[in-house]
Amino acid sequence: MADSPGTPSSASSPAEAFDAIIIGTGQASPALASRLASAGMRVAVIERNLVGGTCVNAGCTPTKAMVASAYVARQAQRAAEYGVMLPGPARIDMAAIRRRTDKIVQSSRTGLEKWLDGMNGCSLVRGHARFESARDVRVGDRLLRAERIFINVGGRPLVPDIPGLDQVPYLTSSSMLALDEVPRHLVVIGGSYIGLEFAQMFRRFGAQVTIVEQGARLIAREDEEVSDEIRQILENEDIAVRLNAECIRMHPRPDGVGVGIGRDEVVEGSHVLVAVGRRPNTDDLGLDRAGVETNDAGYILVDDQLRTSVEGIWGLGDCNGRGAFTHTAYNDYEIVAANVLDGESRSVADRIMAYALYIDPPLGRVGMTAAQARKAGRQVRIGMRPMTRVARAVEKGESQGSMRVVVDAQTQEILGAAILGPGGDEAVHAVLSAMAAGGSYERLARTMAIHPTVSELIPTILGELSPPQ
Ligand SMILES: Cc1cc2nc3c(=O)[nH]c(=O)nc-3n(C[C@H](O)[C@H](O)[C@H](O)COP(=O)(O)OP(=O)(O)OC[C@H]3O[C@@H](n4cnc5c(N)ncnc54)[C@H](O)[C@@H]3O)c2cc1C
Repeated sequence: MADSPGTPSSASSPAEAFDAIIIGTGQASPALASRLASAGMRVAVIERNLVGGTCVNAGCTPTKAMVASAYVARQAQRAAEYGVMLPGPARIDMAAIRRRTDKIVQSSRTGLEKWLDGMNGCSLVRGHARFESARDVRVGDRLLRAERIFINVGGRPLVPDIPGLDQVPYLTSSSMLALDEVPRHLVVIGGSYIGLEFAQMFRRFGAQVTIVEQGARLIAREDEEVSDEIRQILENEDIAVRLNAECIRMHPRPDGVGVGIGRDEVVEGSHVLVAVGRRPNTDDLGLDRAGVETNDAGYILVDDQLRTSVEGIWGLGDCNGRGAFTHTAYNDYEIVAANVLDGESRSVADRIMAYALYIDPPLGRVGMTAAQARKAGRQVRIGMRPMTRVARAVEKGESQGSMRVVVDAQTQEILGAAILGPGGDEAVHAVLSAMAAGGSYERLARTMAIHPTVSELIPTILGELSPPQ
C-alpha cells in the first residue's frame, strides 16, 4: 500500500522499523524492492518526485519517443527520394509530439506505481529522504529505520559556472521536454550524448541549431573517426558545429540569448540548452550523518560489489559513478540482489560496458575504443566497413556511418565495437554477446548471419582484420 504524503505522525514518533529501505525509485529500485519483498522483507521505498526517476520521466523514455517523431519528420522530408510523393511539406505540431511523448511516459510511470503499490511487504513513501544516522532515514516527520539501506538517487543536469548564465533564460535536458514550440535557433552548449540527441531532433523539427563544444571534437570519448563521422552526419542536416569554443559566455537579448564564443564572435540564439553533463543527487541526502563517503564530485564511493564505506549501505545507479545508464543501474540491482539474497559474489568489474547514442543513425558501442585499447597497452587489429558498403543500409537509403570492431592482436579476443548506422544500437549486441561468451574472435567470424542485415557484416569485417597496429 502506498502511504499518502500527509500520513500523520509527529517528529517525536518512534522510528518505523523496516528490513530494508530503498531511497529513490531509479532504475535499480522497483526490481530490487520486488526481490527483497519476495524474500519476506518489509521494504520502504522513498521517492521525492516522480516514480520511475530520470529514465522514465526525463531521460530515455521521453527522448527516445521524441527521437522517433524526429525520424518520421526526416523521412517525410526525404519522401520523394523514395518515390513517395506527399501533397506538401510536412508540418510539425510540437504540442502533438509532446502529447504522444507524455502518454508513453505516463503509461510507463503508472505501470511502475501500480507495481510498487501492489507489492506485498513494500511501502512507497513520498517525500525527501535524508540520513540521520547509518540506520535512520528521515522523510518529513517520519523516521524510518533499517539494517539495510540501498541508495538509488540518480542525478540531475549539471549547470556549470558560465559567465552570464544567471542572467539569461536557459534550458536543461529536463526543461527541454516541456517546450511547446520549436525554437527559432537552438544553441546547444555541449557536444556530447544528450546535447547531440536534442540537437538533431530539434533540427528535424525545424529549428536552426548550433552546437557549441569546448573540446576539439564531438563526443571525445569515442574514436576520432567515429566523432568525425557523427559531426558529418549532423552537418549534413545543416546543424552548425562550433568546436574549440573558448570563453563561452551569455548575453541577454530581448528575443533570446547571445552566446559569446572566443574573443568577438556571438551566436544569436532564441533558446539555449545547457547539456554539459550531470551531477549526482547526493548533496542533500545527509550522507555525512551516515558516514557514507563520496568523491569530490559527490559520487558515492563503492567497491566492486557496490557496498559503500558503511556496512549495510549500498550505492546503485548513476549516484555511484560506475555507470550513467538505465542498463548499468539495472545491472547494479542484479549484482546487489544476487550478493545480498543469493549468497553470490557478483562484481561490477565483470560487466562489459555498452551504450548507445540515439542520433539517427544511432551509434551502438561496446567495450573499448581502439584508442582506449592502445592506451591500455594492447596491440590491436581493426575490422572496418563504411555503411556505403553495407547492402541493408544502402537499400534503406541510410548509408551514413560505419562499423568497426577492435580485436586484441595477441589474445584474439574482441575488445570492442562501434556500429554507427541503421540499427547500430541493436546490431552491436551480436558483438556484446560474443564478448560475454569469451574466446577468440574467430568463432563470431565463422557465424552464418542473416541477409540483408547490418549484423551480417560483423563476421565479414572480422575476416578482414587489419595487421596488428
Ligand atoms: C535526456 C536524457 C536521456 C537519457 N537517455 C538514456 C538512454 O537512452 N539510455 C540509457 O541507458 N540512459 C539514458 N539516460 C540516463 C538514464 O536516465 C539514467 O542513467 C537512469 O535513469 C538511471 O538512473 P538511476 O537509477 O541512477 O536514478 P534516477 O533514474 O535518476 O532516479 C533517481 C530517483 O531518486 C529520487 N531521489 C533523489 N534524491 C532523493 C531523496 N533524497 N529522497 C527521495 N528520493 C530521491 C529522484 O527523484 C529520482 O526519482 C538519459 C538521461 C537523460 C537526462
